[in-house]
Amino acid sequence: MFNFVLFGPPGSGKGTQAEKLVEKYKFVHLSTGNMLRDEIKKNTELGKKVKSLIDKGELVPDEIVIQLIQLKIVENKNSPGCIFDGFPRTVEQAKALDLMLEKENCKIAMAVILKVDEEELIKRIILRGQNSDRSDDCDKQIVENRIKVYHQKTAPVAEYYRQQRKCVYIDNMGTIDETFAELSRSVHNMTALTVHDLIYR
Ligand code: ADP
Repeated sequence: MFNFVLFGPPGSGKGTQAEKLVEKYKFVHLSTGNMLRDEIKKNTELGKKVKSLIDKGELVPDEIVIQLIQLKIVENKNSPGCIFDGFPRTVEQAKALDLMLEKENCKIAMAVILKVDEEELIKRIILRGQNSDRSDDCDKQIVENRIKVYHQKTAPVAEYYRQQRKCVYIDNMGTIDETFAELSRSVHNMTALTVHDLIYR
């Protein structure tokens, strides 16, 4: 299984690129944002609990998302691989993910960091908000708060993976297809590396 993290600030294009990767490589897309929005739509107890945090642009508690992801890892352990999108968002979540994968004899092979200028991020999110029902995409102040939370709590996760030499940086200021071509190259390199690792270990 080739597991990797798609990482980057809100609006950096993680979801869009993940969908294209699913189509091309049949990976499983695990987006905690989608899972949480699903809970809200279904009006579950969990959905009710997290709605106000998401609407404010704050993170939901680590234990909630860790539990959601845990279920999905077990469910998809025979898939070609998982793309983690929007998870981990804190160093605690990153450590928990390593432990969960270790139990399945897997690991994170790479963390792809999508890079987009801050001004462009805000523009893209507000535009997305006009075409979707995501309440956290419509208000500029909430969007700015999400970016602030990203710098405070999520950026240290990149450092966590950098120390493990797993980071791949991809510029996503160009077109969706240009970014996807580069991302595909990284996936190919990663796959080759992993096979090499297995043979020469
Ligand atoms: P984006 O990357 O555009 O911010 P997401 O769909 O990944 O969108 O996340 C939307 C919201 O869901 C976040 O602002 C946060 O409130 C919540 N959320 C998603 N994933 C996590 C996570 N791993 N930890 C905590 N909160 C999360």
